[in-house]
Amino acid sequence: MISASINGQQFSFTDGLSVLQAVRLAGFDVPTLCSDERLKPVGGCRLCLVNVHGWPHPVSSCTTSLADGMEIVAHSPELENNRRATLKFLARDYPMECVTQFPHKQFHQYLQQYGLVPNLDAEVLQAPNGNHLNGPLKDDSHPYIAIDMSRCVHCYRCVRICNEVQGQFVWQIRGHGDQIAIVPDSGTTLLESSCVSCGACVDTCPSGALEDKSLLHGGPPTSWTKTTCPYCGTGCEMQVGVRDGRLLSIRPDAASPVSHGHLCVKGRYAFDYVHASDRVTEPLLRGKNGEWQTVSWEVALTEVARQFRSILDHQGSSAVGVLGSARATNEDNYLAQKFARLVLGTNNVDCCARVCHAPTAEAMKTMLGTGAATNSFRDIEQAKAILIAGSNATENHPIVGARIKQAAINGAKLIVIDPRRIELAQFAECHLQLRPGTNVLLFNALAATIIEEDLADADFVRERVADFEHFAQFTRDFAPERVADRCDVPAELIRRAARIYATDKPAMCFHGLGMTEHVQGTEGVMCLVNLALLTGNIGKPGSGVNPLRGQNNVQGSAQMGCEPSSLTGYVPIEPNRALFEQVWQAPIPQAAGLNLLQMMDAASADQFKGLWAIGYDVLLTNANCSTTRDALRRMECVVVQDMFLNETAKEFGTVFLPVASSFGKEGTFMNAERRIQRVRRVLPPLGNSKPDWEIICQMAQAMQAPHGFQFDSAEAIWNEVRQVWKAVTGISYSRLEERGLQWPCPTESHPGTEILHESAFPKGPRAALQQIAYSPTAELVCDEFPFLLVTGRNLYHFNAGTMTQRTANASLHPHDYLDISPNDATGLQIEQGEPITICSRYGEATLIARFNSGIKRGQLFCTFHDPRLFVNEVTSPYRDSRVKTPEYKVTAVQVLPAKR
Ligand code: SF4
Repeated sequence: MISASINGQQFSFTDGLSVLQAVRLAGFDVPTLCSDERLKPVGGCRLCLVNVHGWPHPVSSCTTSLADGMEIVAHSPELENNRRATLKFLARDYPMECVTQFPHKQFHQYLQQYGLVPNLDAEVLQAPNGNHLNGPLKDDSHPYIAIDMSRCVHCYRCVRICNEVQGQFVWQIRGHGDQIAIVPDSGTTLLESSCVSCGACVDTCPSGALEDKSLLHGGPPTSWTKTTCPYCGTGCEMQVGVRDGRLLSIRPDAASPVSHGHLCVKGRYAFDYVHASDRVTEPLLRGKNGEWQTVSWEVALTEVARQFRSILDHQGSSAVGVLGSARATNEDNYLAQKFARLVLGTNNVDCCARVCHAPTAEAMKTMLGTGAATNSFRDIEQAKAILIAGSNATENHPIVGARIKQAAINGAKLIVIDPRRIELAQFAECHLQLRPGTNVLLFNALAATIIEEDLADADFVRERVADFEHFAQFTRDFAPERVADRCDVPAELIRRAARIYATDKPAMCFHGLGMTEHVQGTEGVMCLVNLALLTGNIGKPGSGVNPLRGQNNVQGSAQMGCEPSSLTGYVPIEPNRALFEQVWQAPIPQAAGLNLLQMMDAASADQFKGLWAIGYDVLLTNANCSTTRDALRRMECVVVQDMFLNETAKEFGTVFLPVASSFGKEGTFMNAERRIQRVRRVLPPLGNSKPDWEIICQMAQAMQAPHGFQFDSAEAIWNEVRQVWKAVTGISYSRLEERGLQWPCPTESHPGTEILHESAFPKGPRAALQQIAYSPTAELVCDEFPFLLVTGRNLYHFNAGTMTQRTANASLHPHDYLDISPNDATGLQIEQGEPITICSRYGEATLIARFNSGIKRGQLFCTFHDPRLFVNEVTSPYRDSRVKTPEYKVTAVQVLPAKR
């Protein structure tokens, strides 16, 4: 502890504070303009000067470390006069009207506090050419951000936050002296720059030089509510501003342990879908003429109950099923699987984890005993090396991506394993640009190198790992020199990556769908776990195996039991049946359930007739669209529960149930690092829409379920989850009020678990290495289909585009592009921007060509966010051999001029 006096009073502080932090903790108000807790202090604005006894001159408190015994004077007539003079100088040329328009801005508050009125109280100074000192820069080009540099006070926080937090380096300082200006790297407009629209510069700007357009047009919000982002599995917390019943602004939550006061373009700006004109807010029933008719909730639910009962009576419970949703809360998903099991009497329940990280859960559960990330995002800053495989994190998990980028800038060694030269590859020590579909070969080669070069962690292997000798023998066939050609990665590069991962410890690894969406998806992840076990990179800070889960609550939806063979907690039905039956007071069905893909297969065989799809566009999202279409066509009842009429509803829906957005309900999400976080109601549900859990409870009532669905709040549902899943028993809503908690958290006094497997695995002291032979996909290129197509997401859009396509993100990224190497494009005489058709053995789609030198010859990449293009017409029917996740990452195609 440090003892110091401030303004004559004595205080005690913890070590490591600046004088400014100490002064503020002591309750004194010291103005600052260049300071932001997210940034390194620079002491530039001089407003925070304080006197320290014995020191000859005032010092900037933000850059001075607090020392024991310091006697600090933070306020004196002289210091206050200096602050007033500094503010007066900054206000000399400042537009008056914005001070009254935005009284909440930090600079404006200081002007009022010090009794200064810009342009009236102060002398107006002009540059020699008559322009404003900062240059007359007004830029209205960006859909979300308004720029008026006449309001700039030269704190350079925009420049610094773009560099130090986002790592994008967009804002540049140009000119000298009075002619200095801050401009985007394009030299022209922000829209033409390399800006990724995270809004961090706007968030930190204290003067309104950079401002959100939604606030300029809508005025300041009248209420702010903390909740969790509805998009990716990073789980950033946010403050949501509302005025006149409309969601007007989203700002990052400064104290979020996940995002550290930062958001990406989706979380920060893509919220207009909430008020989109085509939001469905009344239940709909498909009439005899095929048209949708608006009906009451009672009519809609009675009709669903009638249709399900009819199928149950005629075909039995194996012919119906439920899909939970990664966009719905834990509470919603818990009830969805409970409804399937208790009301429909079937284990046919699944969720969209099936099409993304089911292989991860299976691999990690099998090898380590828990199907979830071993470590936390806070470990990123502790890792000496970071291996990232099959994940374009800066686009798909942008806050994690930004943190990894900063870690690399600050010295961590980065290994990127990805067929494309993604953004993180620019910061990498080595980029292994492998051929799609060869993950198992490559990871076995990394393991072979570690063993051959004696880089394994002998102590860890001896104490915590089984089957080393057999595994070592097995890897001999995978020496880098033997597999390099098939992987299309030089052997020496494989060896270099292995050396870094094994010796620059602790080493952390992240992976994404580039690892899982293959016929050997589960096995690929097992190979990744092998590496962590061999090198002892598990159970320690800065290490571990960490899947980047795609959707906000995909971990939660599977963990809640939306999985045919698992109950809540991702535990197998046997031997856990007794506990659940005791709490539920009802039997769990004995028959094995079908997963999403098996439900489609059964429907194609006329053995599955009724589906309730919650928050998941089956038709648009499943691979190999024609088989999905055939399956849906054969069903008698397709209940779609969503915010919008998605493609499944449009073509095959029989009943549509409108849901509240995540801003219209209470509950919890679970992020990719096992953190349970609160979702809060910011607005009432729009129109007659309802939270998913309320709909499920009412549906149970419509089907005359005797008990088990009488909940009056999301919290009551969560409290039942705490009864059946001991790992979250200690996580109450009241504990979540302040901050999220990571499971396991078995008691209310437990702090939550940041790192798994520190001393043992759930299955015992040792985890066994797995010998995974390479079994290549049957989806091969040939003369007719010579290109390998990989599909994935981009920064601006999210999965089926249901939400982001209804925001101005659609103007920032208007198309799904087909990325092609310039050499291939030249060979095929394709022009940049030209529509071209890709044909596979299964279907075709037409996209806009975009040259991308980060793509190897013979490969293509495209996103799948635009429902008009239906990219999944092209993807193959092949699936992961163990959990049936579709192989989205490898499809052989040919490229043709667009069919007109
Ligand atoms: Fe939301 Fe993910 Fe972006 Fe965070 S990184 S703001 S959770 S989309």
